[in-house]
Amino acid sequence: IFKEEDLALLIDSKGRKYLVSLKKDATFSFHKGYVQFNDIIGKNDGLKVFSSMGEKLYVFKPTLEEYILKMKRGAQIIYPKDISRIITLLDIFPGAKVFEAGTGSGALTLYLLRAVGESGKIVSYEKRKDFHETAKVNIEKFMKNKSYGELTLENKDISEGIDEKDFDRVILDLTEPWLFLDKVIDVLKPGGIIGCYLTTVLQIYSLMEEFDKKFYDRLYKIGIFELLERKWEKEGLSLRPALRMVAHTGFIVAFRKLS
Ligand code: SAM
Repeated sequence: IFKEEDLALLIDSKGRKYLVSLKKDATFSFHKGYVQFNDIIGKNDGLKVFSSMGEKLYVFKPTLEEYILKMKRGAQIIYPKDISRIITLLDIFPGAKVFEAGTGSGALTLYLLRAVGESGKIVSYEKRKDFHETAKVNIEKFMKNKSYGELTLENKDISEGIDEKDFDRVILDLTEPWLFLDKVIDVLKPGGIIGCYLTTVLQIYSLMEEFDKKFYDRLYKIGIFELLERKWEKEGLSLRPALRMVAHTGFIVAFRKLS
């Protein structure tokens, strides 16, 4: 049932998605008229409504994927397809203690929060105050009225030092992760996993060079991964891959700490 202040995702006939926060007596306006929130509040998820100009809209509680693609962005988020691989490759489990840098817009942090569950713990550093604040708001908005584990968001640069110890997992989504390998190894328990998210091949090269020169006897290399996702469409007799595709997002490089 939709309640006041709940998030709702409205989808029009062209598949365009609109994320709104429901308020009593308020309306959502778009190019095909407006929708009264009072027609949504008190109704079940998966509802159909009509705008003042007769446009049909589907109304759902947003999935986390729909939410992160629509939420306010400070920094560029990690796309859901890559987040799914990070969760499996790093084996993020209920109760895990995860250290993250940088928080960015908080997209990955939200998925990590879900994956570690109520007994888990996340500490995330973000050096930019504005991004740190945006991530805080994004996370609070989605997690409102939901229970979750321990979350600490720090407005801090990891080059100034990391106070955390005995963590199960580390995930670095920042430009030069090779500069911080030394520091984050100390954050991890033996056998713990580090994942680095990178967008260019030169970054992977620099990271692997650093590993080959300095860290081969402290880390075990799990591997370098890239995920391609292709959507398919059916229209009448035509069933084929979509004409447009997100061609490149990023790479994931993972290591395990040796004891
Ligand atoms: N994973 C995030 C998400 O899904 O929303 C996006 C992270 S964004 C691409 C990279 C972030 O790392 C930026 O916000 C940047 O300010 C932050 N950053 C870069 N270097 C950092 C450092 N040394 N310490 C803390 N944060 C850092």
